[in-house]
Amino acid sequence: MQHVNPDVTPITPEANISGATHGGRAKCLQRLIRMDLPVPDTVALSFGAVNRIASGDMPDLKSLVARFGECPVMCVRPSSADPDWGGPGAMLNIGLSDATCAVLSDKIGEAAATSLYLRFVQSYAIHVARLDPDMFDDLPDAGTEALAQALRAYERETEEPFPQDPALQLGEVLRSMARAWGGTTARLLRESKGAPADAGLGLVVQRMAFGLGRGVCGSGVLQLVNSQTGLPLVTGRYLSQSQGREALEPGAEALFLGADPRGPSLEDAAPEAFADLIASAERMRVRLREEMQVEFTLQNGAVHILDGVPVVRSGRAAVRIAVELARTGIIPREEAVLRIPPRSLNELLHRQVDPKAARDVLAIGVAASPGAASGAIVFTAAAAQASAARGEACILVRRETSPEDVRGVHAASAVLTERGGLTSHAAVIGRGLGLPCVVGASDIGFMLHSKELRMPDGRVFREGDILTVDGSTGSVLAGCPSMVEPAMDDAFLALMDWADASREIGIRANADTPADARLARKFGAEGIGLCRTEHMFFDAERLTAMREMIFANTAEDRRAALDLILPMQRADFQELFEIMVGLPVCIRLFDPPLHEFLPTDRVGLRDLAEALDLPLSDVTRRVEALAEYNPMLGMRGVRLGITVPEIYEMQARAIFEAAVSVTGEAVVPEIMIPLVSARREVELVKTRVEAVAAAVQMETGRTVNYRLGVMVETPRAALRAGEIAPYSDFLSFGTNDLTQMTYGLSRDDAGRFMSAYVKAGVYPEDPFHTLDIDGVGELLEIGAARGREARPGLTLSLCGEHGGNPESIAFCSEAGFDYVSCSSFRVPVARLAAGQIAL
Ligand code: PEP
Ligand code: MG
Repeated sequence: MQHVNPDVTPITPEANISGATHGGRAKCLQRLIRMDLPVPDTVALSFGAVNRIASGDMPDLKSLVARFGECPVMCVRPSSADPDWGGPGAMLNIGLSDATCAVLSDKIGEAAATSLYLRFVQSYAIHVARLDPDMFDDLPDAGTEALAQALRAYERETEEPFPQDPALQLGEVLRSMARAWGGTTARLLRESKGAPADAGLGLVVQRMAFGLGRGVCGSGVLQLVNSQTGLPLVTGRYLSQSQGREALEPGAEALFLGADPRGPSLEDAAPEAFADLIASAERMRVRLREEMQVEFTLQNGAVHILDGVPVVRSGRAAVRIAVELARTGIIPREEAVLRIPPRSLNELLHRQVDPKAARDVLAIGVAASPGAASGAIVFTAAAAQASAARGEACILVRRETSPEDVRGVHAASAVLTERGGLTSHAAVIGRGLGLPCVVGASDIGFMLHSKELRMPDGRVFREGDILTVDGSTGSVLAGCPSMVEPAMDDAFLALMDWADASREIGIRANADTPADARLARKFGAEGIGLCRTEHMFFDAERLTAMREMIFANTAEDRRAALDLILPMQRADFQELFEIMVGLPVCIRLFDPPLHEFLPTDRVGLRDLAEALDLPLSDVTRRVEALAEYNPMLGMRGVRLGITVPEIYEMQARAIFEAAVSVTGEAVVPEIMIPLVSARREVELVKTRVEAVAAAVQMETGRTVNYRLGVMVETPRAALRAGEIAPYSDFLSFGTNDLTQMTYGLSRDDAGRFMSAYVKAGVYPEDPFHTLDIDGVGELLEIGAARGREARPGLTLSLCGEHGGNPESIAFCSEAGFDYVSCSSFRVPVARLAAGQIAL
């Protein structure tokens, strides 16, 4: 049956072609034709036409073929709505037969015509008649004898001569491509890439530009930028006497174009065509508002443009390209901001494994802190420090990390742990430092005594062996693949500025130390949203002071320990205020899960006994007495502040004394109370803080301004926000603990089963990574609404690790939050995401 008008549309400037009915390639070709580029005559078949072809309803092929003249030789290419969805491969040289081959021999030479015919017979046999490719194994390389043998082989296999009618050939090609699209494998593949179940396929039938024959003939691709950096660089590949994508096949002896240093240039071989191609690519950039790769064929020196596709690009190149398009007025700045997926910025902020490098993946854990680094394996913090002292890169391998390891973490190039999830100690510290980190790599056997790592495939790595930790993907690799360096260049900075121009929600950083604070400013944070003061006690001297304080069991001993800590804290805050001058600094009072600060092994216990000048047995007993079954739900946060009020008083004093001592722009510190679950906790702490403020004011004669707020980390605090808010200038939602407590899921242990849970679809994603909008999100909304009802103008924020995620930022923005706070390295991602939300 033949259909009269089944959406077979010659592509002309006026034709009614749309991406939604004919696919992206057809639409793009129409744009190129409208630009008057030398695109061979093309006909578009709509999704509907291809559907009908699949069910046997062919368009009028005779008249279609007649369009292409006396000697019709055509190619057919797929045109789906999104090129990522795949589709059947292009079929070239359709129409070649004994008769057309003879005509072509006169035009382009016998050798070229024979070669085209041979190519067509082979691809038709394999892709349309579905014959075994082996049948052509014994053919001579080229020539009339090869063609004759191929035709005989075809006839032998199919018991029919090779079809000679171009319309019949075209019909079979169209049918085969239309059916391939409907096949189960193709459907599942594209659905996995987000294609809808009824995604359509369009096809374009184009007059063949041969690329074979007399004069300068060949094919290739050309683009004007480097795909890795996005910087201007004419690059591409060209293969003489070739067609399709042959120039890109591995091993093809193609010419590298333009400034690409790897070979001679097309510029020398065909200067005019080369100049033409560059001019075409430049026009495409302007008209299509995108950096395009030009697919071209040269026939006897004449340029034919077969297609244009957006240049494949790294995250870094994507930023440069979008910014340059905006700078040259081709797209508005807002569009440049919208074109960059926020998470892709991680590629610019951290070293990455070169995407072109071979990856010998040994195991996969949780991708806890992005970036990649290689180094020699070390199993202790001391060994990491020794490595750093020798100037050697090392990977610190631990079962999990604790404050005792922090010096080692600082010294290491990357961290790998057996246990833990996205909010475990190593993950939080790694992200703060911008250090690559993979946690929860429980497939690896961590043999800490024998200092070995047993990989799932049986390979054993020992201390000193070289590993690479890729915290962007969670993989652990053997050896040291080549890396790509970070690129916070002018394009990146411009994009950040443009995102800020539209952004409405504030972005602060979680920063604990002066180094963190400097980083926060460098990344454009608008203040510190969470300073975890217990993190200021990770170095050896301070850890001992902290332990003395924890150990003190008389008021006198505690006072002595606190007297030692007060000047340290004052100096810390002074420095932070000076670095953050003019910006808010939110300081969280101590929230140490005690176990993180106590020694865990004999050596640690002995060191502590020495430092405290106590018998080992006393220290051991005290550590045992302080041990908690569930330290994350134990004597943490405000519970410590209520039980031992002098600790928070000391911190408040340090904050106020530091604030009044800073000269220049006034500092308004924010003091935050952690792990609150009851109004009375806030009331008690507030009274004491007010008393300290009054005392410092008296002693110094300076006005002490500050804001006091509550960290909402327990479900109860969210539910009772209405009665907490009157005592609180702000509520900051700590979604790490809030997630832990809402799910009843230990943030330190979840890594062990999280991937199984996500794989089984129990949770759609790791809730420590992606904010659980349904559950934890509802608590945020309840807390925010009840808080603001009781206290209009209450400042609301989120400072858990979710603060850097685009989805959480969108949620907070929608819920009317004032700012989010995340680790410094995630600030740019957050700024971009927030800018996009507002556009
Ligand atoms: C939180 O619980 O979300 C938080 C920011 O605090 P921490 O991670 O220090 O417990
Ligand atoms: Mg917390």
